[in-house]
Order: sequence, then C-alpha cells, then structure tokens
Amino acid sequence: MEAVDISVMRDPVVQTREADERVPAVKAKPTRLLPGSIEVVHAFWLAGMSCDGCSVSAVGATQPAVEDLMNGTIPGVPRVDLHHPVLAVEAGEAFVQPFHDAVEGTLGAPYVAIFEGSIADESLAAAYGGYWSGLGARKVDGESQPIPTAEWLQKMADGAAAVIAMGTCATWGGVPAAIGNPTNSMSVMDFLGKDYRSALGLPVINIPGCAPQGDNFTETVAAILLFLQGIGPLPEFDELGRPAWLFDETVHRKCTRAGYYEEGVFADEFGGKECLVEIGCWGPVVQCNITKRGAINHVGGCMNVGAACIGCTMPAFPDGFSPFYTRPPGTLVSSTASRGYGAVIRNLRKITQIYQNRERRWLEEDYVPSGWGHVRQPNLAEKTAHFFYDKLQHMGTVRPTPIQKKPGGTVRRHE
Ligand code: SF4
Ligand code: SF4
Repeated sequence: MEAVDISVMRDPVVQTREADERVPAVKAKPTRLLPGSIEVVHAFWLAGMSCDGCSVSAVGATQPAVEDLMNGTIPGVPRVDLHHPVLAVEAGEAFVQPFHDAVEGTLGAPYVAIFEGSIADESLAAAYGGYWSGLGARKVDGESQPIPTAEWLQKMADGAAAVIAMGTCATWGGVPAAIGNPTNSMSVMDFLGKDYRSALGLPVINIPGCAPQGDNFTETVAAILLFLQGIGPLPEFDELGRPAWLFDETVHRKCTRAGYYEEGVFADEFGGKECLVEIGCWGPVVQCNITKRGAINHVGGCMNVGAACIGCTMPAFPDGFSPFYTRPPGTLVSSTASRGYGAVIRNLRKITQIYQNRERRWLEEDYVPSGWGHVRQPNLAEKTAHFFYDKLQHMGTVRPTPIQKKPGGTVRRHE
C-alpha cells in the first residue's frame, strides 16, 4: 500500500474551520503516514494543582471507557498506552523513563500530553527550596529533587501530537487561580501561550468541568486519535479550544427542569422538582452538557439530581459565579418575565390538558367513568376556550363524520 499524505485529507476540513469564525485558524502540519498505520499512541498524564477529581472522572467514562482505549478495541482508533502516576503498574524509574523518552524523541511512537490541575508558579516554591507539583526526580548537588510537572509539560508540549487540558483547573485556572491566587496558578493555555501549536499543529485542547465528565474526555481523545490516524476529520473546536459539539449549548436548554422555567414555576428551596434559577442556578448562561449526558453512564448530573449549576465549566469559575447558591442578578429580568407570561401559558395549557385527558366517548357523554376518583367536568369558561381552540385546531381540515348509533348498540356491563 502506498503512503498517503494525510494533510491532503485534512485540508478541506481545516479550510471549513477557517471559514467558521468560531474556530481559530488551525493548520494541521503535513504528515506522511499510512492511514490506519499507527498502532499505539502514548498518553502521558501530568498533574499540577489538582484534587485528582479529573482522573476519577476519566476512569468513570463509559463511552468509550478508558479500558476500551487502552485495549485498542475501538475500530480505527490506535491503542493507547497510558502513563498515569496513580494508575500505572510500573513505579520508580520504570514509570518515568517513557517520559524521558518522549522528551528526547526516542519513544518511537506518537504521544499526547494530558494535564490535570492548574500550573503553579514553581519559581515561588523554588525560592524556598520546595516545589508545588512534581513527577520523578533528578539529582541536584547530590540530592534527589522532584521534577516539576510544569517542566515536563514545557518539554513535552512541542513534540506532542496534542496537549489536552483536563478539567477546569487545567483549562482556565479554576479554584487554585481564584482571586488571591497565592501560588500564581494558571491554565495550560496561559502557560503555553497563544502561539503554542502541537506537532499536529493544534493549540491546547480544553475539556472543562469541575470535575469534567469522563465521557467528554474519552470521546474527544478518540476523535483526535482518529484524526491522527488519518481516518477521521479534525474535530470541531470552538474559539476557546472546547470540543464544539459538546459545549455549544447551554446546560439550561437540555435541563429536565427547563419546562418549569418556561412556565414560570421556581423552587424557593432545594429538594423540589422545579427550576432552581432563583436559588442560584446559572444554567441559562453556562456551556455544559451534563443534563443531557449525565455524570457517569448517563446517570446523575447536577440539576438531574437536584443541584443548581455553579458554572464550573466556564472560564469565569469560580469568582464569576460566586457567591454560590444565591440568585443570579439576571433572573430579576428573565425569571420575573417568565413568571408573568408563564402563568398565562400554564393555565391555557391546563384547559387543553383537560380535554386531551378525555376519550371521545367521554366528551360525547359528558361523563368520565373512572372508579379512581371524581373527574371534574370543564366549567363554562373552559368549555368556551376549548370551543375556539378546537375550531382553530381543525381549521382547513375535514373532520370525520360521527357514525350513527344503532338502537341497542352499546351494552355496558353495569347497565
Ligand atoms: S434548574 Fe437551571 S438549568 Fe435547569 S431549567 Fe432551571 S435555570 Fe435552567
Ligand atoms: S451543570 Fe453547572 S455545575 Fe454542573 S457540571 Fe455543568 S457547569 Fe458544572
């Protein structure tokens, strides 16, 4: 089989991206590879100022699972050799050596660098002879000193097929970079700078969330690996490097409580089923897909389980959404308006619902034979409203003609 220039396959996609102003001008670098010829891709997991929640999320992913990626069971996606400081079987030098190989260009296979947590200013810690976040060690003046993960990222970034920032601390600085920020923490994008491009020609890829959904991560990794393999297109990223297909909608639009918002029904305390906007939900402005996708295996996810959105996927988190669990100022306009028109819409819908809860026979006989309870008959106002609604509904259509009843036709058990 002849070698194919996969840059030719990528170009139309890249041009489409450039035409779309939401996406930065990303030029994939020409690479001569046989499509499908990559057997293994190394994934180096580095952790900075992190709580390890992103790692926990990643291993909870199911579509695809980390195991699927590591076993190479997804058609077309090369097998992933994961080097994770907590999950690895190897320890000590055996664990660290592949990191050195990647830096020195002797790995013999492509790799991606994944960073979890924000990047603290190591010079601040070094001034006191310490460090913030390290992996492996080296001898300095005869003493073993940890190697900062920031240094690893600095050295590995240029050779990586892609650098993926995992979780809000890595994507936007997150909690460690909140107001005050004694460690001068920053995001991977801030650390590597605007002009950074990976070996594939990609800026930093950002999977935000505190913690992010594991499936958002594994799905993006699989899409990037398909691109690297020369089989799939360059996935679509927005102007902040988020996978556009995952973060282009507000969480509110897919929220299971959005119907309550529309009808102007709001909770005034946690524990109910109504919309939570007046007790601190920022969902209408937050780009997140958790109500649609669920937290793990399509189960859970903030508002699905009663929690208000505090904007953890957004660059302004946490300062821009604090104080948490208080009414966002925008609701003074939006939910007040919704209360007004929602009350009207809600009551009109109730009238329609009365009629849609009746069989044709019950309408004709003006009677509901339910043994479960008294079913209220529509009052005069409701009948009048329905009369006009019914006319509107069937305007321009031919209605079926009722069949003439024959004497003695229907026999009921109680008659
Ligand atoms: S709970 Fe939040 S996301 Fe859900 S409908 Fe209300 S405002 Fe929107
Ligand atoms: S719904 Fe809000 S708080 Fe929950 S994960 Fe999404 S952005 Fe974070």
